[in-house]
Amino acid sequence: MRTRTSLVMTVAGIAALPMPAAAYVRTTTSAGVPTAWKAPCVTMEFSLGSPPLELDAAGYFDAATQAGAAWSQSSLDGVRCTNVIFTVESVPAVAGPVGMDYHNRLIFRKNGWCRDPPPTDPNEPICYDDSALAITTVFQLKNTGEILDADLEVNATDFTWGDFVGHPEQFVPNNTQDFQGTITHEFGHVIGLDHTCFTPGTSSDGLWPVDNNGNPVPDCSSTNLPDIVTGATMYVSVDSPSAEVGLRSLSPDDMQAACDIYTYDPNFVCLAPSGSGSTSGSGGCSYATHPRGVPISGVLVLLALALALLRRR
Ligand SMILES: [Zn+2]
Repeated sequence: MRTRTSLVMTVAGIAALPMPAAAYVRTTTSAGVPTAWKAPCVTMEFSLGSPPLELDAAGYFDAATQAGAAWSQSSLDGVRCTNVIFTVESVPAVAGPVGMDYHNRLIFRKNGWCRDPPPTDPNEPICYDDSALAITTVFQLKNTGEILDADLEVNATDFTWGDFVGHPEQFVPNNTQDFQGTITHEFGHVIGLDHTCFTPGTSSDGLWPVDNNGNPVPDCSSTNLPDIVTGATMYVSVDSPSAEVGLRSLSPDDMQAACDIYTYDPNFVCLAPSGSGSTSGSGGCSYATHPRGVPISGVLVLLALALALLRRR
């Protein structure tokens, strides 16, 4: 577990060095193409028929709505600068398997933290790492990077989910997690962002990723990561309740990403929200007309670092 002492020493060490240029990291396909929605009007379907017990359905829905709004309201110098419109829709049906169906789903996995549908490759594990808080699977076109669908699974098997701001009494170390913070991070993956550090062996194209400035992304295992890396909503892990709550508020780099990729245009209108179930429009056409453009999925994980370290002892 990262101690407070080591964190302070890290920050103090950075202060003596030139501050690194602000940066963010985009997800790329296996062809090395950055991913993005063609029209960033993203609706997540959220089934609240039987949520975990810590919050009621309205509480979870409000938290997810706030997480989406964080990205929609990205601003620089106090002025909104992104076309992202990220909304959450409550749906009655129990969320089912992850899949490329033009329905973006937010799914609580309460009865097993395992893949649904199971993997077709017998060499792939059926269940996820139990230290993973949540997993976002993004379906995108390999050669254009266009995102067509994104499904977000929340680990409600190994963790419970609460609101550390409105209900701080819900914090139980290594058990209850802050729902809004984690979901804000995952929504960043949904719009095409990757982590602000890199874990070797996890890139989709086998290459070491670079940030928007063309610089190699720092190694997540480095002991002296700068604060702008660890303080971003798109940092790879959380190790404390305050860190989880911190994910709710986008860092300047997170907002810069939303604004660079989906630059604000006052004339932009969401004609048909992406992932609303419509298979017409650009997404469906791209999929149908490019034989080699079969959507591929990328899986992105937020780890509960403290718990992971605890279990390795
Ligand atoms: Zn992540």
